[in-house]
Amino acid sequence: MNIILLGPPGAGKGTQSRRLSENLKIPQISTGDLLRAARKEKTDLGLKAESYMLSGKLVPDDLVIQMIREKLKTPECHQGYILDGFPRTLDQAKALDQTLAGNGSVIDHVVDIQVKSEEIVNRLSGRRQCSKCSENFHVIFHPSKVEGVCDRCQGQLFQREDDKESVIRKRLEVYQKQTSPLVAYYQQKGILKSVQGTGSIDDIFKEVVKAVQ
Ligand code: AMP
Repeated sequence: MNIILLGPPGAGKGTQSRRLSENLKIPQISTGDLLRAARKEKTDLGLKAESYMLSGKLVPDDLVIQMIREKLKTPECHQGYILDGFPRTLDQAKALDQTLAGNGSVIDHVVDIQVKSEEIVNRLSGRRQCSKCSENFHVIFHPSKVEGVCDRCQGQLFQREDDKESVIRKRLEVYQKQTSPLVAYYQQKGILKSVQGTGSIDDIFKEVVKAVQ
């Protein structure tokens, strides 16, 4: 099963796709996590991506498309995958369609997680991410049991540099302009399901599972 989770930054795509990955036993592929890892390792891609990520802009399509094509070729993706944060532009969506057509494969479900912009700023400004497993927490809405330590893997939590209010607003603007047209794109293909992204993580997860059944 090949699944895409769509939604603005802070909608809960990472949290829900990690759970779905454990539930369906297929990998979660987060382009944001892959790019952050590339930056940490100071690869050519990481160095090219850095300035875009720090300012809340999208990394150029050709770089991200190339990265995801390589990832989808790996054996771990052969039984299906959950894409988190990709595609983010119409050109990325079309490139993905082309890649899949070449393998005789398709996207089965696109789940759009809907959250209002006002709530997103609150969510992202208090977000903390695990440096090891990328699990997300929130200082008020979803705190870790021990401050600064991941409940799942005991990794250290940190605040992403693009979770500052000015960058959050830029990311939301970029989402509206460049990514939100994907909702209509997948609706036309008849594979889009919408889920309300507010409420408890467990309740939202139940809706996500329903959407992919
Ligand atoms: P995320 O962790 O998904 O919020 O992504 C963090 C940042 O990585 C984004 O603000 C972009 O700069 C970059 N990024 C992640 N995925 C993509 C993508 N599919 N296309 C372009 N840039 C991306």
